[in-house]
Amino acid sequence: MQEFRYRQAKTVEGAVRAGGTYLAGGTTLVDLMKLNVLQPATVIDVNPLPLAQLEALPGGGLRIGAMVRNSDLANHPVVKQQYAVLSEALLSGASPQLRNMATTGGNLLQKTRCYYYRDTNYACNKRQPGSGCSAIDGYNRIHAVLGGSADCVATHPSDMAVAMMALEATVHTQGPQGERAIALKDFYLLPGTTPDKENVLEPGELITHVTLPPLQSGTRSHYLKLRDRAQYEFALASAAVVVRLRGRHIERVRIALGGVATRPWRSPEAERALEGREATMENFRKAADAAMTGAKPLKYNAFKVELAKRALVRALETTTQTERAG
Ligand SMILES: Cc1cc2nc3c(=O)[nH]c(=O)nc-3n(C[C@H](O)[C@H](O)[C@H](O)COP(=O)(O)OP(=O)(O)OC[C@H]3O[C@@H](n4cnc5c(N)ncnc54)[C@H](O)[C@@H]3O)c2cc1C
Repeated sequence: MQEFRYRQAKTVEGAVRAGGTYLAGGTTLVDLMKLNVLQPATVIDVNPLPLAQLEALPGGGLRIGAMVRNSDLANHPVVKQQYAVLSEALLSGASPQLRNMATTGGNLLQKTRCYYYRDTNYACNKRQPGSGCSAIDGYNRIHAVLGGSADCVATHPSDMAVAMMALEATVHTQGPQGERAIALKDFYLLPGTTPDKENVLEPGELITHVTLPPLQSGTRSHYLKLRDRAQYEFALASAAVVVRLRGRHIERVRIALGGVATRPWRSPEAERALEGREATMENFRKAADAAMTGAKPLKYNAFKVELAKRALVRALETTTQTERAG
């Protein structure tokens, strides 16, 4: 690990002014500093900031402070009852100890688990722009089939972000230019030729909180994660579904996929294939085909195309069965 300056932020404004790399739970940042993947000159500890509140909004919806821990968010009664997809996504991630440390802001900004990004012996355009991508012709079993480029095929690893994508969350920030609200669907960038630029945040911009819009009554949601082992493992494919039915008629649905794309992957194609139609297995399969249209499998990850389709079909089936039972 390289030497670095450590400072504790006392206020949001002070943190932004200090100019450095923010330290929240540290479960990504400290790992990557030990591996020399990230080498910040200055680390600003944002743990003292008053950003750990989780509150219901007056008009409905939820305001989640950037420092709310993943375990507190997952187990909050409102989240469990009204935003089940978010609670399930969080509880499917990492381990209880990690979830006790990991924060909402840090989770959104966690780094890819691409082996080549995490190992400085290999070329990686995300870690070192212009150095090449070792994954494209390397061992790319865990990599992206959607949203990749000739420069990067690393997946975004967050489960929480996939659920938030289906819930149409908004990220709120404070930066040197003031406050901003950014719809999560516009937050993450495709890698293109600049995979090192992962999101629209400007240098020094701090995530202060995330808001979730209210869900109409009768809305049900679910997160399904498929992985190599049942616990303590990242997704190979996952699906987040938020759906409202009238009888068996799908009035509204929001769908996002994880584990298969370079960013948490909202699928308007799958949503269009379902809205206004009946909740049948045939329509679920059509939606899954639509979601994976344009998938570009690599040498070792072609299985992800079928896996993601099955994850989505099963998630839709589960969500709409729950609705029928309820
Ligand atoms: C062994 C292991 C297994 C894991 N398994 C999973 C899994 O299955 N699913 C999953 O989704 N995740 C998993 N994770 C990742 C884990 O969820 C993240 O490491 C965690 O959510 C990051 O949050 P943090 O608060 O620790 O972030 P930190 O490590 O403190 O920060 C992460 C990044 O976010 C930046 N940052 C933090 N807060 C802010 C803010 N408020 N504003 C701006 N920038 C900020 C930091 O500068 C840093 O770049 C796993 C991690 C480990 C170590």
